[in-house]
Amino acid sequence: DDAPSALAWTHRLTQLGPRFFTRLQPTPVAAPRWAACNEALRAELGWPAEVFDDNHLQAFAGNAVMTGSDPLATVYSGHQFGQWAGQLGDGRAIWLGEAASKQGPQEIQLKGAGRTPYSRGGDGRAVLRSSIREYLCSEAMHGLGIPTTRALSLVASPEPVRRETIESAAVVARVAPSFLRFGHFEHFSAQGDTDSLRTLADHAITHHLPECHARTSLWQGNVYAALLDEVQERTAKLLAQWQAVGFCHGVMNTDNMSLLGLTIDYGPFQFMDSFDPGHICNHSDHQGRYAYGRQPNVAYWNLYCLAQALAPLIDDQEMTLQVLEGYKTLFPRYLGDAMRAKLGLTGTLAPESEREADWTLVEDLMQLMAAEKVDFTLFWRQLSQAVVRQSQANAVTEADWSPVTDLVLDRPRLLAWLERYTARAGQTHLVSMGPRMLRTNPKFVLRNHLAEVAIRQAKAGDFSEIDTLYNLLQSPFDEHPGFEAYADLPPDWAGQLEISCSS
Ligand code: AMP
Ligand code: MG
Ligand code: MG
Repeated sequence: DDAPSALAWTHRLTQLGPRFFTRLQPTPVAAPRWAACNEALRAELGWPAEVFDDNHLQAFAGNAVMTGSDPLATVYSGHQFGQWAGQLGDGRAIWLGEAASKQGPQEIQLKGAGRTPYSRGGDGRAVLRSSIREYLCSEAMHGLGIPTTRALSLVASPEPVRRETIESAAVVARVAPSFLRFGHFEHFSAQGDTDSLRTLADHAITHHLPECHARTSLWQGNVYAALLDEVQERTAKLLAQWQAVGFCHGVMNTDNMSLLGLTIDYGPFQFMDSFDPGHICNHSDHQGRYAYGRQPNVAYWNLYCLAQALAPLIDDQEMTLQVLEGYKTLFPRYLGDAMRAKLGLTGTLAPESEREADWTLVEDLMQLMAAEKVDFTLFWRQLSQAVVRQSQANAVTEADWSPVTDLVLDRPRLLAWLERYTARAGQTHLVSMGPRMLRTNPKFVLRNHLAEVAIRQAKAGDFSEIDTLYNLLQSPFDEHPGFEAYADLPPDWAGQLEISCSS
């Protein structure tokens, strides 16, 4: 069925030719209903209100194809859990095309819209549970200022989907300037198809990463080395941001790594509750390959795979390795800046000696936090509030730190650290730090148990909790009076939640 479209479509990816995808139609679902419509994103993109009308409900459910859209599934490969997995591809994400927007062309995908030639054994569906998690987490990340694919809408259907139990289906319409993954490049490289590899790289550079051109001078005019360098830097920045908010992705396979440095593929992710560098959020990750503390190194490993894939284009082994080396200085620098910002200490131009001293302060605090298994989000937020209080008092007092020191058993150890911190802060004015820290350390993150409450209610037909969380997570640094419970420690039952790859 054709549906009128409020969107203006273009198809730059489609023009690359049929080696990159397979055209197909989404598979309809029974009785679709809006579970969530992202008004803020719609407004940001300048799309008309009609995108959430009844015709578009059918289109975003996969029951009709919008006029001008040209649905397809792209092919990619990748390394899963450290092993070459061969061909994968969009097994349940159907690409509708690129829609013009105020922010430039946006690709739209329907996740869970049915089988594709790349579904392998899968059913092409996504369950309501994981679709709610993707919808909310995309917007939570955006609210935190972390690059991510976005979620435009969530459509629920009573269509049964078999996982460990029978669940119901949902379709997320997700939006990004490009959904290109490291795996797209690995695919054509592994096939020895250098022409396609070059076509794809040129497409990415021209339409999505024109910044590469400014970087070629660093790499003797080699634009493909510049491409790797650009991706490397974006990835370093992204990983620093993940680490700084305690975000665990859970499945950092190379096919889940965005070429644009976006957070992509929300599955068994988790915002950490109690701080543990070894925390594993994916119940299927038995080795802990994707544990919180390992994420930065895994990203480097994944960049190495991308580098190998791009090697035929860069055509200079030494230069390729040199580009990769950049991560080893860039990531610590971005992480250092992010953690210093959490402490209210800014200045990306700070001298090296100051950075080193501040990093020691950060490391000592993180060690203390790990030893105490302190709640990650709550600790940073309480620290921010305590700094505000201290700056309002005439003198720094032990009592004013108590909401922070109450979070630990070893109070003397934390007080000793706070003394060093106060001494350091004195130099950059405690007064200005507090408000800045409140804009850096969120009050609200999408904890597993919060998502779980929204999921349970949605399964009972009530989608209102999705909206409540969406509103909080859009502005996670605001106080939101009356919603304190959403910033509290997780309840006891949260510890029993097991989130796996099955979604
Ligand atoms: P993921 O672990 O979510 O990154 O998925 C890895 C691969 O499996 C990708 O090619 C997905 O498209 C595919 N896949 C995951 N779930 C399904 C499903 N239910 N049906 C078809 N393909 C799937
Ligand atoms: Mg994936
Ligand atoms: Mg996935």
